[in-house]
Amino acid sequence: MTIELALNKVLLENYNKALDLEGFSGERLANRLAAIARIGLTTDGGSCRLGYSREERQAKDLVCEWMCEVGLLVRTDAAGNCFGRLGGMKDDLPLILCGSHIDTVPNGGHFDGVLGVLLALEAVEMWKTTGFRPQRPYEIVIFSEEEGSRFNVGFVGSSAMTGALPDDGFAKLTDQEGRTFASAVEQAGLSLDRFPAARRDCSEIAAFVEVHIEQGPILENQGIPVGIVNGICGLVGLEMVVKGLAGHAGSTPMPCRRDALVAASRMVTAIAELPPLFSATAVATVGQLNVFPNGANVIPGEVRFSVDIRDIHAEALEKLAAQIVEVANQIALDCAVAFSWNQTLFLRPVPVSDELRTWQATAMRGLNLAPFELPSGAGHDAMLLGPHMPMAMFFVRSKGGISHNPLEFSSLNDCAVAARALSRFLKLVSASTSPI
Ligand SMILES: [Zn+2]
Repeated sequence: MTIELALNKVLLENYNKALDLEGFSGERLANRLAAIARIGLTTDGGSCRLGYSREERQAKDLVCEWMCEVGLLVRTDAAGNCFGRLGGMKDDLPLILCGSHIDTVPNGGHFDGVLGVLLALEAVEMWKTTGFRPQRPYEIVIFSEEEGSRFNVGFVGSSAMTGALPDDGFAKLTDQEGRTFASAVEQAGLSLDRFPAARRDCSEIAAFVEVHIEQGPILENQGIPVGIVNGICGLVGLEMVVKGLAGHAGSTPMPCRRDALVAASRMVTAIAELPPLFSATAVATVGQLNVFPNGANVIPGEVRFSVDIRDIHAEALEKLAAQIVEVANQIALDCAVAFSWNQTLFLRPVPVSDELRTWQATAMRGLNLAPFELPSGAGHDAMLLGPHMPMAMFFVRSKGGISHNPLEFSSLNDCAVAARALSRFLKLVSASTSPI
């Protein structure tokens, strides 16, 4: 059985056809998800469509074909971002932009990014079926190279569109096969020199909305199909260095030790307890830890570890980071070890528009679902657009919270809820002809 048939079958087998409402077709969406899944299929049954690869191009071409079929005006910009435009009743009003990406990590799933693109298209299909035409122009977007797995730099398409590309540095990046970014882009039929031409005047866009799988367990734990994102987390990255004294594991009595790992362990435990004291949405992770000299019979003399701190609230994020350093300092004093640190990364949280969130809640209530809000801990193209225009995101429940994995899955029932919520939300935004 091909994956296309298999994915269709799995999606449709448990689909409640009574959810085919307001022009939504579960079968159409399942067929399209399966058709995209065939492009770059891995031996594990996952997806491999790296940014600016032939597979990403093929997937974009297929969606562009569907966009043409439903009557959209299709174009590709200088960075390879694809757009499909539906004219509005008042076509000179700022437009609504909706979409996501179609590239994947090397052995990713069949929903990350793709679902957001296909639901943006499904809205147009639903409106065509029901005879609805929006007041504002509506554009679908497929952003290029979001994941960043190939050249270790993501959000390329959305950065190009918002003028956030660094001036240089891209050209020399290489992938694992030694191919440069510039030549990969050329092979995709584009020119890196022309990327700045992809920059758009963001004042012509009234709002951007992205539907994405949650990639986490919150919605599943709550038993909720679709959530409203209340902010995209900012990030503070710290590198912590704890210095004690290496010594013989047999001949150094316990009271005489300055064990860097014992001190670092106390810090790691303390860090895990701090986030809820600052914000309900804050998280902190020690994901990397190196022990020196790392010998079984040597007291650890030095430990270096990373701290990844995230929250949607800028103030809480900064206070939490400061407190983590403060607590680590205190522990170092108690343990008679030296402690130093430096900030390796700072990304500001990106807020979502309150007004758009209100309309998202209205759309959910229209489906007899209580609105449920959750933060986005991961970055998305919406993060790049958020500083330039009102932005909103819907999250769709991820089975087991699994993502970036062939096992990634969202049920067609949940996708149907997301499609209808999105269509209703877009109608509300479109009907509001005053600036958002
Ligand atoms: Zn994604």
